[in-house]
Formats: sequence, structure tokens, C-alpha cells
Amino acid sequence: MDKPYRSLNEYYRALFGRKAAKISLDGGFTCPNRDGTLGTGGCLFCSAGGSGDFAENASRSIPEQIASGRAQTAAKWPDAVYIAYFQAFTNTYAPVQRLRETYEAALSCPNIAGLSIATRPDCLPPDVIALLEELAGRTKLWVELGFQTANETTAQLIRRGYPNAVFCEAVRALATRNIPIVAHVILGLPGEGMADALRTIDLLNTLPIQGVKLQLLHVLSDSGLAELYHSGAYTPLSKEMYISMAAACIARLRPDIVLHRLTGDGSARTLLAPLWSLKKRDVLNGIHKYLRENDIFQGKDWNGASGKIF
Ligand code: SF4
Repeated sequence: MDKPYRSLNEYYRALFGRKAAKISLDGGFTCPNRDGTLGTGGCLFCSAGGSGDFAENASRSIPEQIASGRAQTAAKWPDAVYIAYFQAFTNTYAPVQRLRETYEAALSCPNIAGLSIATRPDCLPPDVIALLEELAGRTKLWVELGFQTANETTAQLIRRGYPNAVFCEAVRALATRNIPIVAHVILGLPGEGMADALRTIDLLNTLPIQGVKLQLLHVLSDSGLAELYHSGAYTPLSKEMYISMAAACIARLRPDIVLHRLTGDGSARTLLAPLWSLKKRDVLNGIHKYLRENDIFQGKDWNGASGKIF
């Protein structure tokens, strides 16, 4: 490992022998937390774009979105393969035939080496899981599940819309069909500190997941969190605190889990705070420096919990 953790970049280089770049797509789906099924306001942190602010434009077809994404990265990575990342809203929340057509449209494009599908654990009925199982058998597939926190009180506060048990059940249902899972974790949620972050990692360590994304909580002007922030009821993390929390999570994380992300992107157009996060390279450099200086590596503080299916 070049880095003291299992990075997605290294994972893909070992798998494909070259760079794999993600193209963020908008498949035109919605979300039960937005369409009134569970709620209309969405999760507290979610933007109007359904957490897909960097996704291509939904008015274009999937092949057009992929062509646009490739054009933006071709000069930087001329030999790259691509992962079609269905990012905006809930990407398994539609009839299975529509899902199939959408995913197949991506897979039919040149140089698409895999799919990453972001969704909610309560949007995985049996026919959708059967489709995902079929896809996992013929392409590199990740199913990305928004989890954010193991703290049930925080989960209610952020209007996640399901208890931890639903997440754990979905993980087991996917894992028994050999569908690789990435869990999303947000650091800096209202009322949460280091102990909450580590408890979240501890729970994930016990589950058969293969990837984790660590993200900083961004306050976006078009999210419910903006109101809490303006009223003074929410204070974002400092850069130093984020770096130390991310490092502690890496130390606690099971060694086989691939880290898909160490921090997130907030749209410069709508980001209210923390503004230091706009310099993403600085944040990543800060995490790497902190890991080096404190001799931290992935699994250093792991308690040995196994993610084996039982
Ligand atoms: S589940 Fe995702 S798309 Fe739906 S409201 Fe929450 S963050 Fe937004």
C-alpha cells in the first residue's frame, strides 16, 4: 500500500491495471424521502439536487451524460476506464424494468468498466436485488448505501427515515448474493463527536461490507441544515477536528475495507460552511500528514470484529 489505508484508487489500479474514473450521473429518479412516501423535505443535509450536485444533467440521456463526463476527464486520464456512478437521489427507487434499462444504457457505453449505484437500504425489494446480483456477476458493481451514523437519535434528527436494523438487514440481503456494498458515513452531524463516529465505524466493522465513504457534513444553502446553521444551533467542524476524526475512523476501520473517500465535495455555489472544505486537496494533505505524524494506519485500533455473514 502506498498509503496507510486501502484507497479506492489503488484498488482499481490493481483490478484494472489503470486509472478508473467515476462519472456522476443523474438517472432522473426521485427519493421516498422527497416524494412524500416518507417525507418531502429530504434528509437534513440533502441538497435540492438529491446529493448529486456534481452529477451530469438529467435532461440528457445516460450515454450523453457519460460522453460529457468522459470529455471532461479525457485529457487528464487518456487511458482511464470509467465507472458509471448513479449518484443523484435514490437510484433503485423505480420499477425494476426501468432500472434495468438505465443501468444497461450505461454499460453499453465504451470503456465503462463498472457501476456504482447510490441508494437507500429501504429501497431494495427482492426483484431489484435479483437485478443487482445479475449485474454483479458480469461487471464491477458497488451498491452505495447512505447510512451516515449508527446513532439512532441523530438518524431521527437528520430525517434519515429508517432505523439501523433496516440498514443491517439490507447489507445482509445484498451480501448473501455477493453484491459489494459501500457504506456512507458523515462526520460532524449535529450533536455528534468523536465517540459517535467511532461507534458508527464499530458497527460497520461487524457487517459484510467492502467499502466505506467518509464525508464531512456540508451546510448547503438549499438544505434543511441551513436553517439550523443560521440560527446558531449547528456549528460545523473545524478543519483540525475533521482531520483528527477521519484519522481515528481510519485507525478503527477493519483492514479489508476499501476507503472510497476521505472527504466530500460541497458545491461552491451553495456551500455555506465550512468554507475551508472547498480546498479539498488541503484537507486530504492534512489527513495524510496527520496519519504519517501519528503513525496511524487502517486497522491500528480495530477491535477484531469480523464482517463475515452469519
Ligand atoms: S436519501 Fe439521499 S436523495 Fe433522499 S433525501 Fe436523503 S440524501 Fe437526499
